[in-house]
Amino acid sequence: LRGNSNAARDIAAHLHPYTNLKKHESEGPLTIVRGKGVYVTDDDGKEYIEGLAGLWSAALGFDNERLARVAYEQMRQLPFYHSFNHRSHEPAINLAEKLLAMAPVPMSKVFFANSGSEANDTVVKMVWYMNNALGRPAKKKIISRIKGYHGVTVAAASLTGLPANHRSFDLPIANILHTSCPHHYRFAQDGETEEQFATRCAEELEQLILKEGPDTVAAMFCEPVLGAGGVIVPPRTYYAKIQAVLKKYDVLFVADEVICGFGRTGNVWGCQTLGIEPDILSCAKALSASFLPISAVMVNERVYQALKTESDKIGTFGHGFTYSGHPVAAAVALETQKIYDEMDLFGHARRMSEPFQRHLKALADHPLVGEAMGVGMVGAVELVGDKKTKAVIEPVTSAGATVARHAQERGLIVRNMGDRIAICPPLIIQPAEIDELFSRLRAALDAGAEELRA
Ligand code: PLP
Repeated sequence: LRGNSNAARDIAAHLHPYTNLKKHESEGPLTIVRGKGVYVTDDDGKEYIEGLAGLWSAALGFDNERLARVAYEQMRQLPFYHSFNHRSHEPAINLAEKLLAMAPVPMSKVFFANSGSEANDTVVKMVWYMNNALGRPAKKKIISRIKGYHGVTVAAASLTGLPANHRSFDLPIANILHTSCPHHYRFAQDGETEEQFATRCAEELEQLILKEGPDTVAAMFCEPVLGAGGVIVPPRTYYAKIQAVLKKYDVLFVADEVICGFGRTGNVWGCQTLGIEPDILSCAKALSASFLPISAVMVNERVYQALKTESDKIGTFGHGFTYSGHPVAAAVALETQKIYDEMDLFGHARRMSEPFQRHLKALADHPLVGEAMGVGMVGAVELVGDKKTKAVIEPVTSAGATVARHAQERGLIVRNMGDRIAICPPLIIQPAEIDELFSRLRAALDAGAEELRA
């Protein structure tokens, strides 16, 4: 337990998300008090490179005067208004226009929420609503993938394909189905090429749709690159094959761009990097560089027309949040996008991917690393006990946590998801900082290897 007063007060008062609550009582928190660039500083004055951009999200790092000023000015002009019942305000209109202009395929309208989970729950409800409008009330089932991550609200947690999101929460809810995870390293059969593996994933999707009945399957949710499931980049031809199956059975493609959106994979959208043409797209996190909570759902014209028809029948589109399109969050998000444009942040991220991916892939030669995988400015290494057999280190959670702890001791914050260590730094990162990040990570892997061998 770290010996300052914040730790004791935190343990006494604060119930943490995604934390082993019992362990927290003995270990306490790492309390961050300020940030600058890609660095954050704890309450003992120790500095860390934030190797995960907070939660895959702080694209501009941890300080920005312009965003602070825009928030202040918007608070003075109009701190709050809503968009229920035909009300509107300029920050929401401006941001909706900006997102439509950026969309990877033609989109018709933008709906705002406050988090990725709320955006994805919104999509689930929209899909159900839409299919009532289209007179096919049985077409309601939604497919996502094992190891996909879509959030924690009841529908989004159900879509998430990770056991911790379901166990003891009595989830998933009905009508949510999970199909295979496109992780070649872990799930390919002996001798199966990436191409053959992608074909098999698409065949398994088609079998699931046929087993359930195509008239009952409405949509499939995919993160272009799976994030919290371990940073999994599907094989090159995977999405073409998946989309062909979905089109055949009139199943909508929902792209969850909550991590991938806004430059993370080397293009504005993960859809562009991975060759996806979505019907619906959700985004959050780097939408506002995480300076304020805001998320968005974009829908195409066909979806919008169905929502409109049904809302007219019922009298209203009966869904929305008090803070949908909150003016301060929307103004900050719009300014964030202007800053991205002015500094060519997406171009910078593309240029930084070269040294980033070179350092990442070089870790594949480390004795603890079975796979080093990534694209653009996101990646992960998987820790194994035996590189040849890919045997996991038992217990599965220990190796990742050990390496993450050694990284933290060396001034680097990374996240371990089981035995995969994710790296996803602020997109503003510079070449020398990338060098430093990976030198600390390699030192942490060395220390981890030594500790795990002992
Ligand atoms: N979708 C993806 C791909 C995510 O990575 C996350 C969060 O990490 C979410 C949805 C949920 O977003 P939030 O935590 O803002 O609810």
